[in-house]
Amino acid sequence: MRCEKALCRAALEITIDRLGRTIARCPTCTRRRAGRCVQCNAPRWSKHAWGKYCTTCAKAANDRAGRKYQANNVEVLREKARLRMAKRRQQARAGRALVSGTERAAHLNRWLAEHRTPEQRKAIASHASKARWQKFYQRQMLRKMQEHQERR
Ligand SMILES: [Zn+2]
Ligand SMILES: [Zn+2]
Repeated sequence: MRCEKALCRAALEITIDRLGRTIARCPTCTRRRAGRCVQCNAPRWSKHAWGKYCTTCAKAANDRAGRKYQANNVEVLREKARLRMAKRRQQARAGRALVSGTERAAHLNRWLAEHRTPEQRKAIASHASKARWQKFYQRQMLRKMQEHQERR
Protein backbone atom coordinates (compact mmCIF):
# COMPACT_ATOMS: atom_id res chain seq x y z
CA MET A 1 0.00 0.00 0.00
CA ARG A 2 1.06 3.54 -0.74
CA CYS A 3 0.61 6.75 1.18
CA GLU A 4 -2.45 8.63 -0.09
CA LYS A 5 -0.73 12.02 -0.11
CA ALA A 6 0.00 12.96 -3.71
CA LEU A 7 3.27 14.53 -2.64
CA CYS A 8 4.41 11.42 -0.78
CA ARG A 9 3.26 8.12 -2.31
CA ALA A 10 5.74 6.21 -0.19
CA ALA A 11 5.19 2.62 0.92
CA LEU A 12 3.21 2.47 4.17
CA GLU A 13 4.25 0.63 7.29
CA ILE A 14 1.43 -1.76 8.16
CA THR A 15 1.17 -3.02 11.71
CA ILE A 16 -1.58 -5.08 13.32
CA ASP A 17 -2.39 -4.21 16.91
CA ARG A 18 -3.61 -6.53 19.67
CA LEU A 19 -7.24 -6.13 18.65
CA GLY A 20 -6.46 -7.23 15.13
CA ARG A 21 -6.83 -3.78 13.60
CA THR A 22 -4.46 -2.79 10.88
CA ILE A 23 -2.70 0.50 11.45
CA ALA A 24 -1.04 2.14 8.48
CA ARG A 25 1.71 4.55 9.26
CA CYS A 26 3.76 6.58 6.78
CA PRO A 27 7.32 6.90 8.08
CA THR A 28 8.12 9.24 5.20
CA CYS A 29 5.35 11.67 6.17
CA THR A 30 6.46 11.57 9.80
CA ARG A 31 9.96 12.55 8.75
CA ARG A 32 8.65 15.22 6.39
CA ARG A 33 6.50 16.78 9.12
CA ALA A 34 9.49 16.79 11.47
CA GLY A 35 11.39 18.86 8.90
CA ARG A 36 13.72 16.05 7.84
CA CYS A 37 14.73 14.79 4.40
CA VAL A 38 12.52 11.84 3.41
CA GLN A 39 15.50 9.92 2.12
CA CYS A 40 18.42 10.50 4.45
CA ASN A 41 17.01 12.24 7.55
CA ALA A 42 19.17 15.35 7.10
CA PRO A 43 17.46 18.77 7.59
CA ARG A 44 15.24 19.73 4.67
CA TRP A 45 16.34 22.37 2.20
CA SER A 46 13.00 24.21 2.46
CA LYS A 47 10.45 24.69 5.19
CA HIS A 48 7.64 24.37 2.64
CA ALA A 49 5.69 21.15 2.41
CA TRP A 50 6.88 20.48 -1.14
CA GLY A 51 10.55 20.72 -0.19
CA LYS A 52 10.75 17.14 0.98
CA TYR A 53 14.46 16.53 0.39
CA CYS A 54 17.72 17.84 1.78
CA THR A 55 19.94 19.77 -0.63
CA THR A 56 21.89 16.71 -1.81
CA CYS A 57 18.86 14.48 -2.28
CA ALA A 58 16.93 17.31 -3.97
CA LYS A 59 19.71 17.65 -6.54
CA ALA A 60 19.78 13.89 -7.12
CA ALA A 61 15.97 13.76 -7.45
CA ASN A 62 16.06 16.69 -9.87
CA ASP A 63 18.71 14.95 -12.01
CA ARG A 64 16.67 11.74 -11.96
CA ALA A 65 13.52 13.57 -13.04
CA GLY A 66 15.44 15.32 -15.81
CA ARG A 67 16.79 12.05 -17.16
CA LYS A 68 13.34 10.49 -17.01
CA TYR A 69 11.88 13.45 -18.92
CA GLN A 70 14.60 13.16 -21.56
CA ALA A 71 14.01 9.43 -21.93
CA ASN A 72 10.25 9.92 -22.28
CA ASN A 73 10.46 12.83 -24.74
CA VAL A 74 13.28 11.84 -27.08
CA GLU A 75 11.37 12.76 -30.24
CA VAL A 76 10.10 16.11 -28.96
CA LEU A 77 13.51 17.12 -27.64
CA ARG A 78 15.18 16.09 -30.89
CA GLU A 79 12.77 18.22 -32.87
CA LYS A 80 13.33 21.16 -30.52
CA ALA A 81 17.10 20.78 -30.88
CA ARG A 82 16.75 20.65 -34.66
CA LEU A 83 14.75 23.90 -34.69
CA ARG A 84 17.23 25.52 -32.33
CA MET A 85 20.15 24.58 -34.58
CA ALA A 86 18.31 25.80 -37.67
CA LYS A 87 17.63 29.13 -35.98
CA ARG A 88 21.25 29.46 -34.92
CA ARG A 89 22.43 28.69 -38.45
CA GLN A 90 20.05 31.29 -39.83
CA GLN A 91 21.35 33.88 -37.38
CA ALA A 92 24.95 33.04 -38.25
CA ARG A 93 24.13 33.46 -41.93
CA ALA A 94 22.78 36.94 -41.11
CA GLY A 95 20.83 37.48 -44.31
CA ARG A 96 23.45 36.09 -46.66
CA ALA A 97 22.25 33.74 -49.40
CA LEU A 98 21.90 30.07 -48.58
CA VAL A 99 24.79 28.00 -49.97
CA SER A 100 24.50 24.23 -50.21
CA GLY A 101 27.34 21.95 -49.12
CA THR A 102 27.97 20.85 -52.72
CA GLU A 103 28.26 24.44 -53.91
CA ARG A 104 30.63 25.31 -51.11
CA ALA A 105 32.80 22.25 -51.86
CA ALA A 106 32.86 23.14 -55.56
CA HIS A 107 33.89 26.68 -54.69
CA LEU A 108 36.67 25.44 -52.42
CA ASN A 109 37.92 23.01 -55.08
CA ARG A 110 37.96 25.78 -57.68
CA TRP A 111 39.91 28.01 -55.33
CA LEU A 112 42.38 25.21 -54.56
CA ALA A 113 42.83 24.42 -58.27
CA GLU A 114 43.68 28.05 -58.94
CA HIS A 115 46.04 28.47 -56.02
CA ARG A 116 48.10 25.25 -56.19
CA THR A 117 51.77 25.25 -57.07
CA PRO A 118 53.01 22.70 -59.67
CA GLU A 119 54.82 20.79 -56.89
CA GLN A 120 51.58 20.43 -54.96
CA ARG A 121 49.81 19.21 -58.08
CA LYS A 122 52.51 16.62 -58.66
CA ALA A 123 52.32 15.44 -55.06
CA ILE A 124 48.57 15.05 -55.24
CA ALA A 125 48.75 13.13 -58.51
CA SER A 126 51.41 10.75 -57.19
CA HIS A 127 49.45 10.17 -54.02
CA ALA A 128 46.33 9.35 -56.02
CA SER A 129 48.25 6.93 -58.20
CA LYS A 130 49.73 5.19 -55.14
CA ALA A 131 46.30 4.88 -53.59
CA ARG A 132 44.93 3.33 -56.79
CA TRP A 133 47.72 0.75 -56.93
CA GLN A 134 47.26 -0.07 -53.27
CA LYS A 135 43.57 -0.69 -53.82
CA PHE A 136 44.37 -2.85 -56.83
CA TYR A 137 46.78 -5.04 -54.81
CA GLN A 138 44.30 -5.29 -51.94
CA ARG A 139 41.60 -6.49 -54.30
CA GLN A 140 43.96 -9.07 -55.79
CA MET A 141 44.95 -10.34 -52.38
CA LEU A 142 41.31 -10.61 -51.37
CA ARG A 143 40.49 -12.59 -54.52
CA LYS A 144 43.39 -14.97 -53.88
CA MET A 145 42.23 -15.55 -50.32
CA GLN A 146 38.69 -16.26 -51.47
CA GLU A 147 39.91 -18.73 -54.11
CA HIS A 148 42.05 -20.42 -51.51
CA GLN A 149 39.06 -20.83 -49.21
CA GLU A 150 36.86 -22.17 -51.99
CA ARG A 151 39.41 -24.85 -52.88
CA ARG A 152 39.38 -26.26 -49.36
ZN1 LIG B 1 3.27 9.71 3.32
ZN1 LIG C 1 18.52 13.79 1.91
